[in-house]
Amino acid sequence: MTTTRFAPSPTGYLHIGNLRTALMNYLIARKAGGTFILRIDDTDPERSKEEYVDAIKQDMEWLGLHWDRVERQSERLDRYAAAADKLREIGRFYEAFETPTELDLKRKKQLNMGKPPVYDRAALSLSEEQRDELRAERGQGVWRFKLDHERIEWTDGIIGDVSIDAASVSDPVLIRGDGQVLYTLASVVDDTEMGVTDVVRGSDHVTNTATQIQIIDALGGSVPRFAHHSLLTGPQGEALSKRLGTLALRDLRAKGVEPMAVLSLLARLGSSDPVELRMDMEALIDGFDVGRFGTTPTKFDVADIDPLTSRYLQALPVEAVAADLDSAGVPADQREAFWSVIRENIATRADIATWWALCRDGAEPVIEDDDKDFVTEAMAMLPEGPFDADTWGTWTGAVKAATGRKGRGLFMPLRLALTGQRHGPDMGSLMPLLQVVKARA
Ligand code: GLU
Repeated sequence: MTTTRFAPSPTGYLHIGNLRTALMNYLIARKAGGTFILRIDDTDPERSKEEYVDAIKQDMEWLGLHWDRVERQSERLDRYAAAADKLREIGRFYEAFETPTELDLKRKKQLNMGKPPVYDRAALSLSEEQRDELRAERGQGVWRFKLDHERIEWTDGIIGDVSIDAASVSDPVLIRGDGQVLYTLASVVDDTEMGVTDVVRGSDHVTNTATQIQIIDALGGSVPRFAHHSLLTGPQGEALSKRLGTLALRDLRAKGVEPMAVLSLLARLGSSDPVELRMDMEALIDGFDVGRFGTTPTKFDVADIDPLTSRYLQALPVEAVAADLDSAGVPADQREAFWSVIRENIATRADIATWWALCRDGAEPVIEDDDKDFVTEAMAMLPEGPFDADTWGTWTGAVKAATGRKGRGLFMPLRLALTGQRHGPDMGSLMPLLQVVKARA
């Protein structure tokens, strides 16, 4: 059975880059009728915060990316210790004692000699006594996985055939000197024991994948299908990594972005299929195929979500915005009419309350200097409310006859006087909803 996971580290809020990974894994699981696991990668007790775990769950729920179960790495430390024992037993794990400064020096020397900065495995030739001495002097060493120096190959769901020479990669450190299990080992143990069949993650993990494949093999697990998506860049192709903090999902939510808008964009951006607004998750699932994504960096412009948000809202039936109409205070008998008049003129749900406030309380009129006399004259001709569907036509007809103005010169100053805005719903339909007209007051 297909099982995928989204594995965020709770060290910050989810951003748009995380969402891309989460969504792909979610859609693969749902399309296959499989299982989607939310795995919290919290083996780092200093950087992991409970507040972020909660925030991650809230953001995922807001988006509708419902998980089948949650796993926490901090609760599985015994499993990782068992895997580490096994690696020791089969001779694939060794303790190394170099300090970060020493490692840095080695790397610099290698680079100076034009060699790739790969760990030289000096620790492998230490005798038992030397290790004891180093341990007494420096404390516990780190534990490195001994890679087999051969080519590591897999067929990637996005990149295609990948082949990496293990000799070009340093033996990965899986356990730190202070005993903390690092992500690479924890992830492998989890993927294996949880029966994960498909892993989609960013292309920054490609080298990790190579080493993880060898670790999975060493532990006797079955290697999942891997797919590495390209990384997002800004609209001009600039690296997004530094700006991702400003693209937190909770900020987008606060700005009024609709979940289906951002999901529709991210389910297609960077693939060979066009971005299409989908109204529900089922439609997104149906149209998703990870194999359609390309390897080139994907340009992302946060502004592209806005038109999708407004198109999504426009397409909603009145029942779907009932809560918003309610909190805006729209009376039950006016909801239908109000929604059908304003729906095409809202950018976010917040605009529902704005339009209703305008209808209920009137807008600050905007009157351009050249239009002052004209507007005063026209306002004097506006009938007393309540207005009906014919008010606008009858009124502007009379104003036209009296002033000789027509077209834009006639309509725009009146729209500005009544709504304070250049754009908005059809005035004929809006008039019956206007309860206060400030220009007249
Ligand atoms: N916690 C890892 C990360 O956020 C997970 C990577 C993976 O999907 O294996 O980068």
